[in-house]
Amino acid sequence: MIVPKTNLHVTKTYLPPLDEYLSYVREIWEEGWVTNNGRLVQQLENHLKQFLGVSYLQYVNNGTVALQLALNALKLKGKILTTPYSYVATSSVIHWENCQPVFVDIHPETLCIDPNLIEEHIDEQTTAILATHVYGYPCDVAAIDRIAKKHNLKVIYDGAHAFGVKINGTPIYQYGDISTISFHATKVFHTVEGGAVITNEPEVDERVFLSKAFGHRGDEHYRIGINGKNSEFHAAMGLCNLPRIGEAILQRKQLSELYQEQLKELPIRTLQPSDSLSYNYAYFPIILEDYNTMQRIKQGLEEQGIFPRRYFYPALNQLPYHQGSPCPVAEDIVQRVLCLPLHNTLKEDEAVLVASVIKQLF
Ligand SMILES: *Cc1c(COP(=O)(O)O)cnc(C)c1O
Repeated sequence: MIVPKTNLHVTKTYLPPLDEYLSYVREIWEEGWVTNNGRLVQQLENHLKQFLGVSYLQYVNNGTVALQLALNALKLKGKILTTPYSYVATSSVIHWENCQPVFVDIHPETLCIDPNLIEEHIDEQTTAILATHVYGYPCDVAAIDRIAKKHNLKVIYDGAHAFGVKINGTPIYQYGDISTISFHATKVFHTVEGGAVITNEPEVDERVFLSKAFGHRGDEHYRIGINGKNSEFHAAMGLCNLPRIGEAILQRKQLSELYQEQLKELPIRTLQPSDSLSYNYAYFPIILEDYNTMQRIKQGLEEQGIFPRRYFYPALNQLPYHQGSPCPVAEDIVQRVLCLPLHNTLKEDEAVLVASVIKQLF
């Protein structure tokens, strides 16, 4: 067997210099305080609010719990309109919170929920829209806002991919009633495990603050809660990584532009940020002509030790436990999309290699 010398995965966890992390660990040892709204958690929350340009942010233990806390804080019941083109957590959480997901197909250009199709799915049981900024590209926030106001719906954005993104200079997490983030090890900014709930409303923030720590403050019990807290060790990783995020996004941008340049002659669709977008280059999806081409490219890359990912697959409306109504645009895209390796330790010649293997396969 010939072992390929390359071993490139779609993402790779960035780890900061060990000494820097250890200096935080020493602080934790000295204070003897490891979790329960510790000093580093509060420090990370303050730094994140400043960096992201938002008023209220609760740091939690992952992006899925962030979504659960969001639905709970808005007291949602009934039907929630959502996208079929996202990670499985987005729609699972709706069921988990005893609501019903109603899938609205995506727009063929943005790959985010199609605002033109939202209104026809609204009925008297509809209470909210839960949409994902897919790959960090924004939903049509203006159109969604208009529809939500008209029909008195809450809006939650799953912003797991959209860390640091701005639309015309406005931070993306300012839109909607709540935005959630994931700080999982595979994301642009990570704290190993972690997430956040962001809102502009102090009352909503207070509910999330209480709910993430069992619903009580000291001996005073206010509401039903869960354990959504995160630890000082996780916050320390965030404090190490946050100052490097600007540089990391720049490296991702250069690699993405390299891919664009290398692949431009091929019959492949790529996504490109518009001039009004400050993008974070979270992913580099390529959309092939059809399923067979996608499989051929995927296998050909894997033979060379390059591991792209079918992200997203399947369409969430097609999951056996959802059985949502058809979403032809999303169902088509999931058959022929691949995300190429992209992370800030990927080298330029590695990206060139990925592109040259793809070119050869064509
Ligand atoms: C990663 C991700 C989540 C889940 O976040 P975790 O921190 O892994 O729980 C939710 N939604 C989307 C779109 C994601 O990419």
